Amino acid sequence: MHVPDFTLSAGPVMATPRTQQALGSPIIYHYDPSFMDTFRSTERKAAEVFRTQNDIVLMQGEAILALEATARSLVTPGMKILSLVQGVFGKGTGYWLRDLGAEVHELEVGYHEAVDPEQVRQYLEKNPDTEMIAMVHSETPSGTVTDCSVIGPLAREFGLLTMVDAVSSVGGLEFATDDWGIDVAVTGAQKCLGGPAGIGLVSVSDRAWEVMLANPHAPRDSYLSLIDWKIKWKEEGRFPFTPSVSDIYGVESVLDQVLEEGLEASIARHSASAAVTRAGAVAMGLELWPASVAISADCLTAVRLPEGVNDVELRTHIRSKYGVMLSSGQGAGNLMRIAHMGPSARGLYPIVGLSALGQGLKDMGVSLDVGSGIDEAMKTLADQNK
Ligand SMILES: *Cc1c(COP(=O)(O)O)cnc(C)c1O
Repeated sequence: MHVPDFTLSAGPVMATPRTQQALGSPIIYHYDPSFMDTFRSTERKAAEVFRTQNDIVLMQGEAILALEATARSLVTPGMKILSLVQGVFGKGTGYWLRDLGAEVHELEVGYHEAVDPEQVRQYLEKNPDTEMIAMVHSETPSGTVTDCSVIGPLAREFGLLTMVDAVSSVGGLEFATDDWGIDVAVTGAQKCLGGPAGIGLVSVSDRAWEVMLANPHAPRDSYLSLIDWKIKWKEEGRFPFTPSVSDIYGVESVLDQVLEEGLEASIARHSASAAVTRAGAVAMGLELWPASVAISADCLTAVRLPEGVNDVELRTHIRSKYGVMLSSGQGAGNLMRIAHMGPSARGLYPIVGLSALGQGLKDMGVSLDVGSGIDEAMKTLADQNK
């Protein structure tokens, strides 16, 4: 089967030729001084993109591994955790936390809404024994954001640890680890950074290291161990095991690309593509999934599907008929997602996604004005480039 003409899915996303080339670098021994240099500079560049002075750990495995490792390293039985749930990933975090014996309280809203920071404050005032807040910055399956810029500092004010799933935001959405006081943040390379799937990038504060090192339940001598990376690699200069050499070259390259473009410019590019996509979707007669633009994530646009249209069938139809790969709802609801994430957050890519989605829906008998949608999207794009 041919690869699609356009990959406009919500991660993994399309990679630039430069990224592809970096992934094809010679495979060398991991203790070769040149690879060790690359590994260390990749950590430093990741810290810049996280906007942090904290340690960076490059966990090998999908981002879920890094998130699970974080949970296992921080949680002790009976720990009181506030978990903010506004979608599939927030809900999933609670399963791990409870499995590890934490006492979890969920502040949960509909999967098209966002948790109100004021509600978080009220909860913390009533429950001063809370020890940690877990939250998802960009709820990818719903296309919404959690306001970590307010909730992070709030957690600091109450002396709490914070654990943030920032897998689909770092590099494309504003994420200021140190300014917001985030203790542990996890991102993936295959979302806004446009890199390979299979590396989790983790930022760990000194305070979080203290908690992990004092936790007798934190994994040690394990694939899930953050502590191994702290002690063996950062303190003793030994890798816990063999790093994914090729993927590290890919990750270094995408970090270089975002830093050369400028983090602010990358964030502006994502927000410009989001504006184009939303304008087009609404003008063709579609309803946006998030309750408001204010809580919408700029890395993708989720639209509500009309009654009777199945998201997976629609995705399959669009892929086979028009060669465009979009993302379905992934459990958040009956919705479709056009991602403008990493290299696809640029120029005409959103217009391609809108045409394919609009025509795909028309093929299924939905009445839409695709032409008006494209006109409006093009007009928005033209206005941005005046
Ligand atoms: C993609 C994603 C994950 C999972 O990342 P994998 O690399 O697929 O394990 C977790 N959280 C969010 C918010 C994501 O978008």
